[in-house]
Amino acid sequence: MSVELVCTVCKTPYHSSQDRFICSNCGASIEPILDLEKRRNTMIQVIKKGSSRSEGIWGYRPMFPGFTNVMPVSMGEGNTPLCHAGTLGKVYGIKTLLLKNETVNPTGTYKDRFASLALSLFCSEGAKSVALGSAGNAGSSVAAYAAKAGIPCYVILPDGGVFARAQQAMSYGAHFIRCKGEVNDCIDLVEQGVSRYHWRNASTTMLHNPLASEGYKSIVYELFEQMSQTVPDVILCPIGGGILISKIFRALRELISLGLTQRMPRLVGVQAAGCAPVVRAFEQGSKVTSVWENPKTIAGSINDPVTFEGITALHVIRESAGTAVAVNDEEILAAMRLCASKEAILAEPASAVTLAAAANLRKSGWIRPMDSVVCVITGSALRDLPLLSGGTQEAPSVHPGNLEELDLTMRR
Ligand SMILES: *Cc1c(COP(=O)(O)O)cnc(C)c1O
Ligand SMILES: [Zn+2]
Repeated sequence: MSVELVCTVCKTPYHSSQDRFICSNCGASIEPILDLEKRRNTMIQVIKKGSSRSEGIWGYRPMFPGFTNVMPVSMGEGNTPLCHAGTLGKVYGIKTLLLKNETVNPTGTYKDRFASLALSLFCSEGAKSVALGSAGNAGSSVAAYAAKAGIPCYVILPDGGVFARAQQAMSYGAHFIRCKGEVNDCIDLVEQGVSRYHWRNASTTMLHNPLASEGYKSIVYELFEQMSQTVPDVILCPIGGGILISKIFRALRELISLGLTQRMPRLVGVQAAGCAPVVRAFEQGSKVTSVWENPKTIAGSINDPVTFEGITALHVIRESAGTAVAVNDEEILAAMRLCASKEAILAEPASAVTLAAAANLRKSGWIRPMDSVVCVITGSALRDLPLLSGGTQEAPSVHPGNLEELDLTMRR
């Protein structure tokens, strides 16, 4: 890898490729350097023009260091709608509530923005197989792009992982291995298997895949275009390992450096109350997270007791004058159902946390009525239908042609 790297927090430069892209000085992840001076005009043009439906995230290729000569493995990821949630906003008391609907990505989550770049890069470097540790969505996404690229994929799933997600990964032909541990144990196991089985480690962590992680920045470039070349006042983002929020911040910083905006939105990191190591560290004024004991929440996709990018996530939340909050499972379920019935978007629990948090922050006054607020709806609840419809009773039944029975039912 010829790309120059730098620590996300203390800015120590790094030159060589390594197994774990971690700063030996401060422990944060390191990321590729994007030379904003060298190709300034190209980048400004690319972001101002926006991407087309057919290009998707690849329309922003100059913003991803190391992808100049790579052949895309692509299925139309990115270019997702920004929906004005008028009805939900009214319920919550927020005039401009916008939902970045990542559920319409090819596998149902924003992780496709990573998987497309990862598989493209690996295949251009001659990879014969990939493996990753994942509690669900990353596994499905990488499995799909591996299928598209025509190489085998091994997914190591923790015992607590969501089976509906494993089923999706298997549907794409992935080999699926269970591990009696947490998602971090699965990722460690993949690391150990890399030399043994000639896997490429496709775990969706910045510390393993700093280049592919850059794909998430495209969410912000799209937002900027969709909001008529402006940025919102507040962005709410779920936190599992902490990559997404870190990359959202990085892309916003790029927009500022390129002179496209002067403003840094306040970033809100949202976790489930049953597994909230980042929120705890934020409240304690700490710069690092510690392991969360006995994690338990319906938001399986952000059930990460170890926060891989904890140092970076805490740093970007504070730099943006943002905050970190937790919401409980009841609030998550209520937000999921409200979003489905009022806005017709099926947000999985890990995404609905942002809606529940927006409601709470509005109540507390942290979000003001006129703030423009974006919630990143990271993944689809099409795989969580039992959870979503759990409150509805069995449907009434009638006999063919029996209008009296139908009358009775309609009157109830
Ligand atoms: C992976 C995932 C997240 C958390 O992202 P991190 O970058 O690990 O913080 C949030 N929502 C969904 C649906 C996910 O799949
Ligand atoms: Zn550092």
